[in-house]
Amino acid sequence: MKQAFVIGSGIAGIATSIRLKQKGYAVTVFEASSAVGGKLGVLKKQGFRWDTGPSLFTMPHLIEELFELCGEKLEDHFCYKKKEKICNYFWEDGTTFSASAEEECFVNDLVESFGEDEKLVRAYLKKNKTKYELTEPVFLDQSLHVFGNYFKSKTLKAFLKSSSLDLFKSLNQLNSTSFKNNKTVQLFNRFATYNGSSPYKTPGIMSMIPSLEMNYGTYFPLKGMYSIVESLYELAKRQGVMFFLNEKVESIALSDNVVNGIKTNKKYYEGDVVVSNMDVHYTYEELISSYSKPKRILNQEHSSSALIFYWGINKVFPQLELHNVFFSNNYEREFSHLFDEKDLSDDLTVYLNISAKEKADDSPEGMENWFVMVNAPANYDQDWDSLILKAKKNILKKLNNCLGENIEELIVSEEILDPIRIDEQTKSYRGSLYGNSSNSKLAAFFRHPNFNGIKNLYFCGGSVHPGGGIPLSLKSAKIVSDLISS
Ligand code: FAD
Repeated sequence: MKQAFVIGSGIAGIATSIRLKQKGYAVTVFEASSAVGGKLGVLKKQGFRWDTGPSLFTMPHLIEELFELCGEKLEDHFCYKKKEKICNYFWEDGTTFSASAEEECFVNDLVESFGEDEKLVRAYLKKNKTKYELTEPVFLDQSLHVFGNYFKSKTLKAFLKSSSLDLFKSLNQLNSTSFKNNKTVQLFNRFATYNGSSPYKTPGIMSMIPSLEMNYGTYFPLKGMYSIVESLYELAKRQGVMFFLNEKVESIALSDNVVNGIKTNKKYYEGDVVVSNMDVHYTYEELISSYSKPKRILNQEHSSSALIFYWGINKVFPQLELHNVFFSNNYEREFSHLFDEKDLSDDLTVYLNISAKEKADDSPEGMENWFVMVNAPANYDQDWDSLILKAKKNILKKLNNCLGENIEELIVSEEILDPIRIDEQTKSYRGSLYGNSSNSKLAAFFRHPNFNGIKNLYFCGGSVHPGGGIPLSLKSAKIVSDLISS
């Protein structure tokens, strides 16, 4: 039996291990830390539980696909529910908007709340869906670096229709001409942050992101986000995948540009195929340092990172949902701070997730577990101590103004995650959440491919093609396993 090694147990690493096992490989996953899941983590303190990383769950069929591949039923191991409300939005002038998952209702509410033209909103949403349907098979479901893929009919169709993909205007330009009200523009501009980019730079094709929420829906795993990892980890183990935790891979052994094993902090292992789920920057720097780096790809602008406060709050807020956003008054300045000045604006958009709204035992009775996140620049050795202090003050100001409460007085527990810690804990280069940003028209072509010139070495996860986030990381696992012969 051929031996495959997976470096890292992020969501893509675990998914790859399941797929390779199904292809007949003996598979071992090496994980440097003491827990599986990478950026998906969990924190428990003073009776509160927080998912430390992702909080938005979309496209559950990608998880189901893995169970089906192994001949198991998803519902026997992992349960989730569809959300009826996608997100509650707040502005400091007192405006609120509750985004329904039901398109009819969502459109009517936008028309009523923001005076939008119903026909134009419907046309915008329909076009987003078409964009996604055109691009998914070409850009997200296959390698962009296999020459033959360019001659498939679906690829040619997408290129023929490229003028309708809004590649040559920014997402903000597209949204500003699609909607009357600046608040609607801001609401749809926010989707650029789903891959760590700026709406003022990322192309209009990214308007396909909201169609994921509108068409596929948003979901909540009944046992919290970390249960996604737990269920896949258990599935992989049931299939016979071996996991070695606390075992850091230190180098990939090559001879004549062919992989023949890996060296960890414990020993040397001989094998046939290696898949790195480690951030691609660090894979080059630490595991194949003698191999020349693809500088142009690695030097692309990095996606944003995040600053997160995990707060135990001694009160229940009925006006809040699972997902809540409190918008800044000057979105453009906020993104200029993030990507040009690489610091934080004084006026921040605050994302607040409260899993206890869906899973009551995530906080003590009468309290709530707040996951309070702002977009932050990637780490370029900024003075994070003072940025964190300043951000906390500004976040509290925003929440106090929108909720009419002194939030600081309600905080009974606090932990903080910042770009430096994200980098240290999960080996994510500069703390970026999604690898390279998509702040350019050709960004998709400047993500690292799922392979390089080294025979039998492959790459999966959020830092390579097709992109970051749980769904695309899962798609990278499928692309990689499709590239590896049985
Ligand atoms: P990672 O999660 O990056 O894990 C890589 C693993 O490799 C780690 O466990 C690391 O320890 C291990 N490793 C590294 N080096 C070595 C080595 N030398 N040897 C052995 N092991 C090694 N996505 C969404 O879809 N929705 C969201 O709402 C969302 N919000 C987010 C919020 C935050 C705060 C963060 C941090 C991320 C968020 N994301 C979100 C992004 C999402 O978490 C990632 O894109 C995705 O989890 C990346 O998975 P991955 O497979 O690339 O591996």
